[in-house]
This record gives sequence, C-alpha cells and structure tokens, in this order.
Amino acid sequence: MGFSFVIEHMEEDEPSTHSIPPWVSLEYQQIRSLVGPGNTVRFTHLSRTSVDALQKLWPSSAEQATSNVATTQVTEVGVLELMKANNIPLEKVCLLDPKATQGLSPEDGDGRFEWFLFGGILGDDPPRDRTSELRVLGFPSRHLDSVQMTTDTAVGVTKRVVVDKTPLNAIPYTDFPTIRFNAKESVEMPFRYIKDASGEPIMPPGMRQLLKDDLDKGFDF
Ligand code: SAM
Repeated sequence: MGFSFVIEHMEEDEPSTHSIPPWVSLEYQQIRSLVGPGNTVRFTHLSRTSVDALQKLWPSSAEQATSNVATTQVTEVGVLELMKANNIPLEKVCLLDPKATQGLSPEDGDGRFEWFLFGGILGDDPPRDRTSELRVLGFPSRHLDSVQMTTDTAVGVTKRVVVDKTPLNAIPYTDFPTIRFNAKESVEMPFRYIKDASGEPIMPPGMRQLLKDDLDKGFDF
C-alpha cells in the first residue's frame, strides 16, 4: 500500500493547448519516478483536458510496472474530495509547507501520516506563498527547511525522509544553481535541489533543454 504523495495542481493550463505547461509534465513525470513503485502519486484538481493528456502519456498499470514508477492517479477532483472518497481524515494528511513550524522527520512516516500533500505550483522568485491556499484548509504541516524547492524536489526529499528514513539535514543539496548552456548563456534557478554524486542539481529529464528553449524565446524564469 505505501504512502500517497498528492500534488494539488494549482497552475493554469497553457492557452494554446488547454493542457498543462511542458515544465509541469516534466516535473510530474519526475515525481512518479522519484516516488517509485510501492507508493502512489495522485495528481489532483486537473482540468479535463489535462487528465486526458496525462492518461495518454501514462496509459496503464502495465506502463507503470515496466517504467518502474509509482502507481499513478490523475483526476479533476480536488484533494479534499479525494480524501472523503478514500476515508482519509485531515489529521492523516501532512501538507509540505515552507512556512510550517516543524521540520519533516523520518518518524513522520511511522504511522502518523498516510498522505503527503504538495502544491502543484511553479515556484517564483521571490516566493509568493501560494501554498497558503492549502494552508488555510487546516492540514497538519511540516517544512523541508526554509529554502524554496521545486515540487518534484520537495516530493523527492519527502520520500527520502519518510520512506528511506534519511534525516532532512543528511540529504545533499545545492542552492540556486546556475545552469550553464554554453560559454555565454546560463540561467540561475531560484530553488534548492538535491545534488547528485558530481554535485549537479537533480532535475527532471528534459528540463535543461526546456530552460534553454525558453531562454532562446526570451522568457524570464
Ligand atoms: N512559491 C511557491 C509558494 O509560494 O508556495 C512555492 C511552491 S513550491 C515550487 C511547490 C510546492 O513544493 C509547495 O507548495 C510545497 O508543497 C512544496 N515545497 C517547496 N519547498 C518547500 C519547503 N522548503 N518546505 C516545505 N514544502 C516545500
């Protein structure tokens, strides 16, 4: 059964495709991989077109089994309604909130919580505290230290703490890394990432290319 990692989608669809923006599907695919088999990922509060698009991308349990990812649910339903449908009481759902007073610990995975809830939000610089839209619903909450993470990084850190039992401060991080594309072009990311063995930020496959394409189009991050 394992835990449920719930991402309440809180971003607008792309006007051109009426579906989730490209960076969102990269992050959400990464979340499925980071959580891995044995646990469940639920993407909630999606538009109908986004549900259809993601169900095409992630067609079936057979795909999930072969691609070594978490069992995945995509739904238009919001987290509160999904909790009711699954008989999950509020106190069993932990909101990951940068403004929580208590840090997440391995013990939080010993029966205290069954679901871990995240805002499906593209971070901003400086952060606008949009997680507050979930905070007001009264969930118990934990922080992952005070530095803003991308949603996939926050899920990856949470999984390492509550499933792998690694303490928050024993996970290797890199803050505000510069992603260099060539001698002249780079972008500084306003986030904390888990770093890999060579000290590089762990990012969703395809994200670097997307950042480069956006840079070429002149988008600010
Ligand atoms: N700027 C956004 C805000 O104002 O809330 C940050 C959203 S962050 C990119 C996406 C989600 O990851 C947050 O809603 C939260 O659930 C989780 N998250 C990110 N950094 C976190 C931290 N340091 N502590 C706890 N949760 C965090």
